[in-house]
Amino acid sequence: MPEIKVLFVTSEVAPLIKTGGLADVSGALPPALRQINVDVRVLVPGYTQVLAKMGPSEVVATFKDLPGFPPSRLIFSIMKSGVPLLVLDCPPLFQREGGPYSDPNGHDWIDNPLRFGLLSKVAAVLGSDESPLSWRPNLVHGNDWQTGLTGVYLSVAKGSVPNIITIHNLAFQGNFRPQKVQLLHLPPASFNVNGIELYGNMSFLKAGLYYAYHITTVSPNYAREIQSAELGFGLQGLLHARRDDITGILNGIDTQEWDPESDKHLHSHFSASRMAGKAHNKLALQMRMGLDSDAGIPLLGIVSRLTHQKGLDLLLEIAPRLLEMPVQLVILGSGEAFMQQAARELALRYPGRVAAMIGFDEGLSHQIEAGADLFIMPSRFEPCGLNQFYSQRYGTPPVVHNTGGLADSVVDCTPETLKNGTASGFVFSGMTANNLFFTIKRAIDLYHDQRKWKALRKNCMSKDFSWETSARAYRRVYMKVLGWK
Ligand code: ADP
Repeated sequence: MPEIKVLFVTSEVAPLIKTGGLADVSGALPPALRQINVDVRVLVPGYTQVLAKMGPSEVVATFKDLPGFPPSRLIFSIMKSGVPLLVLDCPPLFQREGGPYSDPNGHDWIDNPLRFGLLSKVAAVLGSDESPLSWRPNLVHGNDWQTGLTGVYLSVAKGSVPNIITIHNLAFQGNFRPQKVQLLHLPPASFNVNGIELYGNMSFLKAGLYYAYHITTVSPNYAREIQSAELGFGLQGLLHARRDDITGILNGIDTQEWDPESDKHLHSHFSASRMAGKAHNKLALQMRMGLDSDAGIPLLGIVSRLTHQKGLDLLLEIAPRLLEMPVQLVILGSGEAFMQQAARELALRYPGRVAAMIGFDEGLSHQIEAGADLFIMPSRFEPCGLNQFYSQRYGTPPVVHNTGGLADSVVDCTPETLKNGTASGFVFSGMTANNLFFTIKRAIDLYHDQRKWKALRKNCMSKDFSWETSARAYRRVYMKVLGWK
């Protein structure tokens, strides 16, 4: 098997910088690809957090005059996973207090087009004859809108290699005023319906989808859904036209980081055959979050961005009804102000029964996955989702909406699926408060039948969510694009 060289371009990569699932994928897929003979290197912006956390490094290239962009340089380092890392260092664009996409108040950085235009531009330089590096990729693999212009720049570069793009969430598109086309030195002819124009604006993601040789997205079901008006976010026409060039590949998870037998964030370790530790984690979680200590009460866990997408408004709506039953609720998340407020108010109204932690807390997210009995994830749409994998692996059956990757990774618990050993959670169709309520109730009823509950937990914990299968599917896509046998 020939070795494929891939430049993997991403705007976040765990454990250096993370706001969501993209970071997890970027941290875990490249090492899995390296295991199967793909020489992948990761290109990421040099945010303050990345520069602070990366290991020993050396400058390997400088870019003094990329038209339209401030000077920048490439710093080479190696990630803990062994994956070679190229950090795009450009202090005026990336070194600042705040997140990768927004300032500390949550407002998008005003120069995001320039910031991610540079990321795309440098990716294209590295994939063409202009590259200053001796290592040359056979293919550039971008992710989400932040890398969307790569294909446009590659299309006019000399000696360019093919590129693919992975959609992690079609809702984020990077749409900006058309004037940016000039600012970013894009070919004027590209501002066209057959190009980067979207309803009068320029769109990073549209550009990515239009110019990529192949498109992947993070679950087979989402690959179909985005071709419909309901979940296509205005891009369904293009996606439908390109349907033969789209592949849905379910994400895996980092099974070392998320392992109930060795997870450093947990109070006690456990496995499918030694479940006592799970009960200890439940008590520890109740203690940490100020909930009443009660081993027998069903504890519902949530770890999520608090946004419309994640459907937690429905959960907050039904919470008073749910809490008429003996249940506890623990919520970890941050996002829209009204949802944060509603979660806080719920906790104040039900002391000892509801706990809400507003913020981002990696350790607590592991403790909730391990300590809760049920995990609630009623996303309106979900390209893949990761928490439903984590919760299954930690013996915490998820309650999910029948959409995207949730539908691809959770098998609804029915008498038949319980009997044939495939049941791994609770799936509801129809995004209504009542459907969510009755599905959680169905789960709680099963919880009280401990024999069935234990069987369900065991199914969950025996599933294989490692990256190996997905990495092989990505390699097949690379080979197809390159026309290699
Ligand atoms: P998305 O990328 O849409 O936010 P995913 O389920 O794909 O959703 O991935 C979310 C990732 O971010 C998971 O690893 C999840 O545990 C983590 N996460 C989300 N919110 C928080 C939070 N408040 N604290 C800690 N981790 C969080």
